[in-house]
Amino acid sequence: MGEGVPAGDGRAERYDTIVAGGEVVDPGAGISGRHDVAIRDGRVVAVEPEIPAGRAARVIHAAGQIVTPGLVDLHTHIYWGATYWGIEADPVAARTGVTTWLDVGSSGAYNWPGFRRYVAETSRARVFALLNLSSIGLVAPTFELSNLDYCDVDLATQIVELNRDLILGIKARIDAGTTRGVGIRPLEMARQLADRVDLPLMVHIGNGPPSLDEVVALLRPGDILTHCFTGGNHRIVGDDGRPRADVRRLHAAGLILDIGHGTGSFSYEVAEAMLEQGLAPDVISSDIHQLSVQGPMYDLPTTLSKFLNLGMSLPDVIERATARPARAMRRPDLGTLRPGSVADLALFRVEEGEYTFRDAQMAARHGARRLVNTMTLVDGEVLPRLPERPRHVWALLPEHQRPAGVDEPR
Ligand SMILES: [Zn+2]
Repeated sequence: MGEGVPAGDGRAERYDTIVAGGEVVDPGAGISGRHDVAIRDGRVVAVEPEIPAGRAARVIHAAGQIVTPGLVDLHTHIYWGATYWGIEADPVAARTGVTTWLDVGSSGAYNWPGFRRYVAETSRARVFALLNLSSIGLVAPTFELSNLDYCDVDLATQIVELNRDLILGIKARIDAGTTRGVGIRPLEMARQLADRVDLPLMVHIGNGPPSLDEVVALLRPGDILTHCFTGGNHRIVGDDGRPRADVRRLHAAGLILDIGHGTGSFSYEVAEAMLEQGLAPDVISSDIHQLSVQGPMYDLPTTLSKFLNLGMSLPDVIERATARPARAMRRPDLGTLRPGSVADLALFRVEEGEYTFRDAQMAARHGARRLVNTMTLVDGEVLPRLPERPRHVWALLPEHQRPAGVDEPR
């Protein structure tokens, strides 16, 4: 932190911004407690208990709030206007604290150039992607792997090689709908692609066929199993209430268990069984998209609040939405306020009250705390709150999730 120390002979260092008086929660850097954060030229230059306010052009008062690294959401869909699922990142970033968005599989080879140009290059939020094995990506709701002609490993390899600055891994959704009778072949091809480009593979599970046995056999340490707490027939908890031995072994070797809450993929029953066995998810992500943003997922802070109320500590929850997803993306420079890092920050109030949270099956749990984002900074600048576009005409929640008469927290 040498840069943050006042220069000798009385000349004090100047900053653009100081975020003052907040409780810093940065588990990745091991920083906690009341600290000021000094920012210059879009980077964090000091995190110290007391930095004189007079040294900054602007002071953001954060007393009574927690200050975290900007959240890193490992499972999002932000290809608005070109896919069934995509929402726009920036308006949601400004009200949730999510500063790094990993879009997982919205683009395959054919619609990748548009993602790069119209989403990644125009968003103020930091955007990265996992490339879909299927060349058509997620233009339609499902079926993308059912035509093996669209699973072109050579073409996808070329796209990755030309875009390694943004493409951090490979995505394949493996369930009955996406594969439609072609079996496990698409996952074998995704495995081949990920090995060839030496990047992590994120596999989505839900309801087979293919079976979870077939899926797990093709996973490797460093890969990401998303929707890991699904209540579908790919559930990783056996009938005896214990996690499957193969998943447990692979997890111990480095498989990353990622929540990816979404519309259909988070079950309190599975989450409680796993936590009871001492197996917390490695990453808590939203799977935010046209449907899930309407509830009961809503957004990443709401998803994090569910885990707070399941008994996880605040630092454990924040770590799973900052340092850990950054590491899963092989970008350990993100998700931290360590001096020298990009100045992506989120401010939250921890509100106390009586709240009801629901999983994908609408099972309810009650909680006494929730995280509410109050401000989000990217590259040291506050993101403006922006109106959000209306949902697409097809974006209707499944019948059982429509909120009529449900006592939602907002
Ligand atoms: Zn998803």
